[in-house]
Amino acid sequence: MPVINRLIRAGKYLETILSPMVCFGMVVIMNNNGAETEPKEQPKPMICLVSVGNDASAVFPELRQEIKETYGYEVTARVEVPLPEMAYDQKRNRYLVVPVLNRIGQRVPDEDCLKVLGIADVDLVTNELHYVFGKADGISGRVAVISLQRLRQEFYRKPPDRKLFSDRVAKEAVHELGHLFGLQHCENPECVMFFSKSIADTDKKGKKLCSGCSQRINTGRE
Ligand SMILES: [Zn+2]
Ligand SMILES: [Zn+2]
Repeated sequence: MPVINRLIRAGKYLETILSPMVCFGMVVIMNNNGAETEPKEQPKPMICLVSVGNDASAVFPELRQEIKETYGYEVTARVEVPLPEMAYDQKRNRYLVVPVLNRIGQRVPDEDCLKVLGIADVDLVTNELHYVFGKADGISGRVAVISLQRLRQEFYRKPPDRKLFSDRVAKEAVHELGHLFGLQHCENPECVMFFSKSIADTDKKGKKLCSGCSQRINTGRE
């Protein structure tokens, strides 16, 4: 037999012995690689509540329930965010709402916080408006804030009303989150997305989205 044929046969023989070993080796390597690169469990998207300035967690339990019922996401609390000093408008003794929104966004970068709602117990203003009950950051679509100051009856020199206060907090929270989920103001005065010019408007409207707003909403959930 010519030497060349012998070499070919020897090569084939080696191939039959080695192939399973090589394949086996590859399987092991792939398995190892697979285990290492396996994606981590995705963070579960949630709506995160944060106190801004003072501790506002007393209103969290009722808010949790109302928000979850409306938007379907779990609601959780995150660390307190201090008020940015540069947001303070000394002349009006109020805080400019835009730098407050920015600060909340910076302090709560968590990926699992799909939306972040700050609850501030100070009066909030914009450069144009005398006061705001709340504001949503339309650019990021992620952060909103509400102020508790004008939601208490005491602010209007009336006796405290716990139930009314908690209804107002829920309405303002659901409203600002509605903006974050892409909703505009609604003409229906009973819809929570109706624009409140005064606390009387807040009291007149309900805590829920009207059917039109419910259909328009884009929560990203099926
Ligand atoms: Zn609004
Ligand atoms: Zn509506």
